[in-house]
Amino acid sequence: MEPFELMTTMGHERVLLCSNPDVGLKAIIAVHSTVLGPGLGGTRMWPYASFDEALTDVLRLSRGMTYKAAAAGVHLGGGKAVILGDPKKDKTEALLRAFGSYVESLNGLYITAEDVGTSTDDMDVIATETAWVTGVSPENGGSGDPSPVTAFGTLQGMRAAAEERFGEPSLKSKAVAIQGLGNVGFHLASYLRKDGAKVFGCDIDADRTARAAELGVEIVPPDQIFDVACDVFAPCALGAILNDTTIPRLRCQVVAGAANNQLAVEARDGQALAARDILYAPDFVGNAGGLINVYNELIGYNQERAMRGARGIYGSMGRVFAIAKREKIPTYVAADRMAEERIAHVRGLTPRHWSRAVRSSRPKR
Ligand code: NAD
Repeated sequence: MEPFELMTTMGHERVLLCSNPDVGLKAIIAVHSTVLGPGLGGTRMWPYASFDEALTDVLRLSRGMTYKAAAAGVHLGGGKAVILGDPKKDKTEALLRAFGSYVESLNGLYITAEDVGTSTDDMDVIATETAWVTGVSPENGGSGDPSPVTAFGTLQGMRAAAEERFGEPSLKSKAVAIQGLGNVGFHLASYLRKDGAKVFGCDIDADRTARAAELGVEIVPPDQIFDVACDVFAPCALGAILNDTTIPRLRCQVVAGAANNQLAVEARDGQALAARDILYAPDFVGNAGGLINVYNELIGYNQERAMRGARGIYGSMGRVFAIAKREKIPTYVAADRMAEERIAHVRGLTPRHWSRAVRSSRPKR
């Protein structure tokens, strides 16, 4: 599909191509929806094989942010940016600052944050050129690493799923298998151990499994994690790991984890989980803690308030399950419906005053 057709089909409001040959910058900023507020989403730096690949990624990811923000109940729309390049080789201060000036040029329509290939330190550099950046370091008045809040939110989604499936939210004595013991997976394992859960885990990085083993996590080889007999399977590594080869192997009753885009093919794999009577806690509802964390930065960061916000994921996930039951639809469809209903409701308000929301959203630092 050509770019205009893609934008129309996916419903994007604006796409900005950013080029500064002096510093080697090639980037795309996509604002999917600003119905609920400014489009917030991280900047991904990745060595894309082509412009088309980068464009498809940024359009898909920014649309995902619209749904995540809508489901989380925050006053944000969806946006995302991609920088074409290898973060290990191509990232320079000049490149990040040039990118920051493009973010600034949108005057708050888009607010950035870190993502794959960018870090808190990078956000500090971008912040020299624009106020429209979150996820900056605590030393600079930001919220820093979002993963503890993401893990806490994921735990709330898992508790809601436990209540739905087992009749009570407690995870005490439940067996949970975590794929990926990185930033989020490690904190999730820690919360679960404190709650008295039996935790299995795997990672391809030996340092990360060693660190988790100290929490009492039983380490299994990465290729065996799908076969672990457990109550909950928690994907916390990569996307697309729920697919036609892995779903038949699962020996759990619930899938609830932090990884983005867990279903390889949404309709096929969402249906396959439902057909196996495995309760799927939709990823973008459960992993919104990081977004809630940076959202709090917009109003003056306070971790306790961010944690309170992430606790709300318990209720959001419960609403997804209620919609699924009421309308007899799979949970992945119910999550989309919940997000779309909120957007449609606000879109119907006239006149729209969200520009006021943008003005009040300027990060307070
Ligand atoms: P991370 O890179 O710190 O951790 C991912 C871990 O998965 C790494 O330790 C990696 O070695 C491991 N891994 C990769 N492939 C694996 C495999 N095949 N088997 C087992 N382990 C494997 O990333 P993170 O910040 O913990 O994020 C985890 C997931 O959650 C990602 O999908 C991310 O997009 C999503 N997410 C993260 C946040 C956040 O706040 N960090 C917010 C929302 C969503």
